[in-house]
Amino acid sequence: MREGLHKIVSDEETIVAISTALGRSGIGVIRMSGRECLSVARRFFKPHSQKFDLQHRKVVVGTWNDVHASEIDEVIVTFFQAPHSYTGEDVIEISAHGNPVALRRIVESTLFAGARVAAPGEFTLRAVANGKMDLVQAEAVRDFIESQTEQQAKIARRQMNGSVSKRLRPIKEKLIDAIAHLEAGIDFAEDDVDVPANATIIDNIRPLRLELTALKETFGFGKILATGLRLVILGKPNVGKSSLFNRLVAAERAIVTDIPGTTRDVVTETISLDGVPLSFADTAGVRQTTDVVETIGVARTFEVVSEADLALLVVDGSSSFDDDDRQALHRASRIPHIVVINKSDLPQVIDLSVLNGATRVVVSAKTGRGLQELNNELRTFLASHRTSLADDLILTNTRQHEAVSNASAALGRAEHALTTGVPHEMVLMDLYDALAALDDLTGEVVTDDILGRIFSTFCVGK
Ligand code: GDP
Repeated sequence: MREGLHKIVSDEETIVAISTALGRSGIGVIRMSGRECLSVARRFFKPHSQKFDLQHRKVVVGTWNDVHASEIDEVIVTFFQAPHSYTGEDVIEISAHGNPVALRRIVESTLFAGARVAAPGEFTLRAVANGKMDLVQAEAVRDFIESQTEQQAKIARRQMNGSVSKRLRPIKEKLIDAIAHLEAGIDFAEDDVDVPANATIIDNIRPLRLELTALKETFGFGKILATGLRLVILGKPNVGKSSLFNRLVAAERAIVTDIPGTTRDVVTETISLDGVPLSFADTAGVRQTTDVVETIGVARTFEVVSEADLALLVVDGSSSFDDDDRQALHRASRIPHIVVINKSDLPQVIDLSVLNGATRVVVSAKTGRGLQELNNELRTFLASHRTSLADDLILTNTRQHEAVSNASAALGRAEHALTTGVPHEMVLMDLYDALAALDDLTGEVVTDDILGRIFSTFCVGK
């Protein structure tokens, strides 16, 4: 078992959970993991034919009975023998009919025989503890289950396959090599061991730092992929913000609506553009006002703008650019923005010279003209966040980002120390810091605190 994990993962206990979503369905799956699960299953499961016993990866049909030997359901049971299972322990999977009452009764029978109900993510935690996957892969399991767009699912699948972990392995090995060389130079200084020149060590470390920096930068897009790009639609009243919002949302598949903050006068909707979630906030109109209620709405608009990644500043092409437009433009200018000149179906009077070099798109929310161009501008904006690394190598959460940043910063410190002739003992501390950060990332050495945080976000049964 991995170092640091045996304290919280006890392989003495057999855990059980309903792994499928609660509710009525065709089938429901119960999963059990631990050393007792085979004997628990044998106690309640009666194969239809005596010829079939529970064997590794063999599917057996029979009935599952309760403690009084009365039948609960007809089920299919599959046994996975340790270590060739999801958790690395003995695992029993029971496929029953998807009736919550029956599923619960089956779980109760296993509890009676000594199993206990699994905590969220506990099956995956055991998989990590038994070396079946590392922490980045475990997080990817959760992300895959939670993903709402094709692109999110794709990245999570690749992380599950170890895309990040595989990339890190050679970096870590080279780092350990560098550490070993330095240690040897210090320990055996009197024995004429060749101490590598500082320039050589720097040459070895720098490519590692550059690779980590590149990986770190993938989080710019990873974050957008995970939480969505936040767009705000801005402009004075009546320029067509709501019409544009409805157009954008209707044209693409809307995915979620449960965005917190519904109390403010801002309507939010999330759509998927090429598999990337974009959440639009339609704000109250921005204009100078003395009306108290409207002032509150405008203040909230500014709040949303400061949280957004991109603003769509809507102006009415059929009227002239006035002070209210100017004020809205001023607000939008604080963040990346695209000027949307709306109402192109009407005669145009707006003087575009005031817009300077801002990216602009001419649309008609009424007819839908120009919407495609607007989507293309959004795609261009998204593409600018992608890095040179392949799509499969993306950090998708702050924990990963922090670990990689710490590792690359520590290598930067080591390089600097080497250039300034700091003793190798001190350089080693930085190199060990970098190594520790990479270990944190994959979970080689992890604290209960980190594990508690990660696995509490899982669903039960996974
Ligand atoms: P908001 O106050 O900025 O949200 O503006 P609305 O979306 O409520 O639109 C204000 C008015 O402009 C409504 O009467 C819309 O029907 C109209 N409108 C919006 N977009 C267009 C457009 O592209 N062309 C024309 N002709 N009218 C539009």
